Amino acid sequence: MFAEKVVIITGGTRGIGFETARLFAQEKAQVIILGSKEESVVKAQDLLKKAGLEVEGYYPSLNDMSQIDEMVEKIILKYGHIDILINNAGISANKKIDDTTKDEFEKIMNLNVNAVFNMTKAVVPYMKEQREGVILNTSSMVSIYGQPSGVGYPASKFAVNGITKSLARELGPYNIRVNAVAPGIIKTDMVASLPQEMIEPLIKSVPLGRIGEPEDIANAFLFLASPQASYITGVILSVDGAARN
Ligand code: NAD
Repeated sequence: MFAEKVVIITGGTRGIGFETARLFAQEKAQVIILGSKEESVVKAQDLLKKAGLEVEGYYPSLNDMSQIDEMVEKIILKYGHIDILINNAGISANKKIDDTTKDEFEKIMNLNVNAVFNMTKAVVPYMKEQREGVILNTSSMVSIYGQPSGVGYPASKFAVNGITKSLARELGPYNIRVNAVAPGIIKTDMVASLPQEMIEPLIKSVPLGRIGEPEDIANAFLFLASPQASYITGVILSVDGAARN
């Protein structure tokens, strides 16, 4: 299904993005992972190589339009098309508003929102020309319920939902589908970095009785990118075991 498809995954070096890269590569897609540093990109490539999977890697600043455009042009020169963009890179926050600085708030917005806009803006002209494309964003369950501290994070994911629903309407006429996956609590470094006293009760309260695995989210991306989802656009798909934070 994905043979010859060119898939760009931001934050593809670990966690959800890495597992998504693995799954698409197993499905024979041409996967391009992006990370924030050369060493993390190379480490992820090496890990996948050990599993017999080849992926390409770049590490542009996702807030620098000229670095992004240069990379996208290189990809187009090499493959001639970009079929799927997965905007997955993200950081979270958990401090109360009194302890959160303006810079910390902006840092979250810069990656979780502005980078989604920047990457999408860079690939959309090519997808429009192809009259085909899939854009998938990583939202979060906090985009539905908010969270009791770390306001920048839910604010950024509400914005991701806004981008998803609006671009689905704007780009539908070009046969470009735009959807998001809203993960619950998933076993990655992001969750490991949060205080145990915050995470443990959350996991205990998940009706499906377990923490989510990165593969649970990768599977949802694979489905939303597939022809089976060809009439699905503008959707925020919760993949959270019915968790409520
Ligand atoms: P992670 O920390 O394991 O991975 C984050 C990824 O983002 C890494 O590949 C990292 O290289 C990349 N990244 C971080 N800062 C970057 C920067 N400045 N520039 C470019 N790339 C950068 O986290 P994860 O849990 O795999 O998160 C992936 C996505 O899933 C995020 O958007 C996150 O908000 C979302 N999410 C995660 C959970 C969860 O429970 N883990 C829940 C809901 C949503």
